[in-house]
Amino acid sequence: MNTISDPGAGGAPAGWRDPRRIGPPAGGGPVNASLTLPEETVAALGHRVWEILSAHLGPGRRGRPVASPDAAAEAVRLRAEPLPAAPADDPLALVDQVGRLLREGNAHPDHPDFLAFVPSPGTVTGVLGTALAAGFAVPTGWRFTGKVSSAIESATVRWLAELMGLAPGTSGLFVSGGSAANLTALTAARDALVGTEGRGATAYFSDQTHLSVPRALHVLGIGEDRVRVLPGDAHRRIPLRRLARQVARDRRDGLRPFLVVANAGTTATGDVDPLPELAAFCREEGLWLHVDGAFGAAAALTERGRRVLAGLDAADSVSVDPHKWLFQPAGTGCVLLRDPAFLTRAFGVGLPGYLDAGAAGHDEGEVDYLHWGIEQTREFRALRLWLSLKVFGADAFRAAVDRGQATADDIAAYIDSRPGLEVVTGPSLAVVTFRALPPATGPFPSPEDADRTVDEVCEDLRSEGRAMVVGVTVAGRRVFRLCVINPRTRRDGLRAVVDRVAELWTARTGPTERPGAAP
Ligand SMILES: *Cc1c(COP(=O)(O)O)cnc(C)c1O
Repeated sequence: MNTISDPGAGGAPAGWRDPRRIGPPAGGGPVNASLTLPEETVAALGHRVWEILSAHLGPGRRGRPVASPDAAAEAVRLRAEPLPAAPADDPLALVDQVGRLLREGNAHPDHPDFLAFVPSPGTVTGVLGTALAAGFAVPTGWRFTGKVSSAIESATVRWLAELMGLAPGTSGLFVSGGSAANLTALTAARDALVGTEGRGATAYFSDQTHLSVPRALHVLGIGEDRVRVLPGDAHRRIPLRRLARQVARDRRDGLRPFLVVANAGTTATGDVDPLPELAAFCREEGLWLHVDGAFGAAAALTERGRRVLAGLDAADSVSVDPHKWLFQPAGTGCVLLRDPAFLTRAFGVGLPGYLDAGAAGHDEGEVDYLHWGIEQTREFRALRLWLSLKVFGADAFRAAVDRGQATADDIAAYIDSRPGLEVVTGPSLAVVTFRALPPATGPFPSPEDADRTVDEVCEDLRSEGRAMVVGVTVAGRRVFRLCVINPRTRRDGLRAVVDRVAELWTARTGPTERPGAAP
């Protein structure tokens, strides 16, 4: 039987200096109950992890596949793997294996040719900030233990609000993503306007709204019968007159309208609801205006985006996902409120005696973030964006966001210049959708066949590992969609993806013998 030892106290057992060895000698020995590793081992593993990461994050990745052809067998094996009772024989080999799995087993939302959904382009500083925060087990819920982390979070949130042109005094906190940001804001809205019971509380948004919004309302106990999903107008925006009529009717029926959710960049097409008009309407009607800018609000960093998003500063709350268009690692969302006191009202709790360390030494303006959201022990997400902004400076971020919009302009012009293709929507906040036109001669696929072919062509592209493109439905028809927020996406590479889409489309729908094609 193994006995427990503490190599930290008694020194590492002989043989542990070998960087590959992290467990007890074969055939029994002390169990590594302190869960520590000798310094040399840590250094060797750390170097290897960094080698793997820098190969992934470096410029060489452009030529590598954006998605793996097929990891199904690997996934089956991994799901069934038994619990590892014994330590690894060779931890370096294990780290290499993890590197290979992550490289080959998943699609890469940070790849320059990942153009589907909303990509997560990332920055190396975001990765380093994550490592530092994890390494220090940074406490962030509570200023009593996390004085500096609380201050860094407050500053980063203030910078973000300033970058987006929001009103002074706007504040909030970092959360796991847009879904959590929306839930946090909607909870504050409910408690502010209709109370926790929320009897009769009714909410309004367009059918282009992200699924996390109706889900947040479900979590808040606001049933489907009090959720008004209004069909978007011809430009996929919330219809103002219809909204006003619906609110009036609901009031007459004894319901309590309290919330309008506007989109600042719908996920499908990047469209923006009429924010100034909605803000005026909500002010008149005493409704809370939440803007879901998880994807698109970052465009407000740029002059051009600021124009498109005019009215954003009039919202009561805004969600923005730094893990999308602000280049941070997954798990970095942010919710901002014009009046952050509504967060304490919704989430503030009286601390039990054993936690109440008193207010001694606390300065004006310090925040206990555990009173601002549902998490107590929280990741120190702010450090990623803080470090990134400090290293690159705000202007680099403005330019990087601007580049996404310029790339969208360029590819839209290219699509329209290319015979056989046509832009359907956009460019709007770096999203363009397009379709293939009917051929001049020959059979044209039925609308149903064309819809199916869009998805098949996307699948062809993915299985080639060339690019990730996913179709969306616009006005009832499937179209190709490109979301080009990655500042490392190259215009020529993007044009080549569009060319490839056209080729694959022709191969699936057009004459089998194309001009110039081999017989
Ligand atoms: C991505 C997105 C969300 C959800 O954000 P997560 O970070 O994935 O939770 C919500 N709304 C919009 C508009 C989005 O694009």
